[in-house]
Amino acid sequence: AKGEGKNTFSFFDEELNSASRNRIALEQRLRQVLEKNELLVLYQPKISLATGKVTGVEALVRWNSPEFGMVSPLRFIPLAEETRMIIPIGEWVLETACRQQVLWQEQGLSLTMAVNLSSVQFKSPTLIERITAILDKTGMLAEQLELELTESALVEKPNEATWILEQLRSLGCGIAIDDFGTGYSSLAYLKNFPVTVLKIDRTFVRDLAHDSGDRAIAQSVVALANNLDMQTVAEGVEQQEQLAILRELGCAFVQGFIYSRPVPADELPAIVHTITAG
Ligand code: C2E
Ligand code: CA
Ligand code: CA
Ligand code: CA
Repeated sequence: AKGEGKNTFSFFDEELNSASRNRIALEQRLRQVLEKNELLVLYQPKISLATGKVTGVEALVRWNSPEFGMVSPLRFIPLAEETRMIIPIGEWVLETACRQQVLWQEQGLSLTMAVNLSSVQFKSPTLIERITAILDKTGMLAEQLELELTESALVEKPNEATWILEQLRSLGCGIAIDDFGTGYSSLAYLKNFPVTVLKIDRTFVRDLAHDSGDRAIAQSVVALANNLDMQTVAEGVEQQEQLAILRELGCAFVQGFIYSRPVPADELPAIVHTITAG
């Protein structure tokens, strides 16, 4: 029994070591993603339920690593945030997305561009300068840009957050609260945040057809948004049934696999055409 215990212990020990070795390897590679040009941006269409047309896209980053394969942002964004690598990475994503928006615009494809902003980026004292510089450099209109923030970025210091949001709004950018309802934001704060969009989180959309609680939440978010003069986007829509309920609730926009997965830029125009035609 003594021998067994020892073996078990060293097994876990090795597991831990290999986990932290992986993390260190990942972190080292992550530091080089930009110089090695290993990041790419995919775009997922956002559809207006009123018109059935694609009105915009959300930019979603991917890391195509020769060693680790396609690494999900769920895996590397937290690491990038801890190491502050998210600042240059986030800036690269924003610039890439803005350039792409301008390119599509020149081809006659007018789409709003939603870009996710980490709370680390949001708290950076040079955020406004950086965004202004990227808009200038790419020639993108701020009115076409929508920045997606999670509640956690806003609630820590609500007064400071309000001030930053106001500056972003005065540039002309839209502001979406991502994953709305999953965090801890109080409704009292929401009233003071100059937010333009609430995104209904996928966890509430998933069981919309079968869970009356989820339906009540989705309905409340739509009502709240309407009353506060904000728009609603439901994310993670996969089934016709969910779509029908969201339409009935008066949700304005949807994103989800039912229309399209996030795709590379060169595939997007054909997808927009198909959705709009269908
Ligand atoms: P998010 O901003 O909530 O993005 C929505 C996620 O849901 C995306 O995952 C998207 O691919 C996925 N999705 C869209 N429609 C469906 C659907 O119908 N069904 C299902 N099951 N999933 C759907 P993705 O691309 O893996 O991104 C995960 C998260 O990583 C994002 O969640 C966002 O928080 C973060 N992220 C992605 N790109 C960036 C970025 O450029 N910057 C920052 N800071 N975070 C990013
Ligand atoms: Ca998002
Ligand atoms: Ca989301
Ligand atoms: Ca999410």
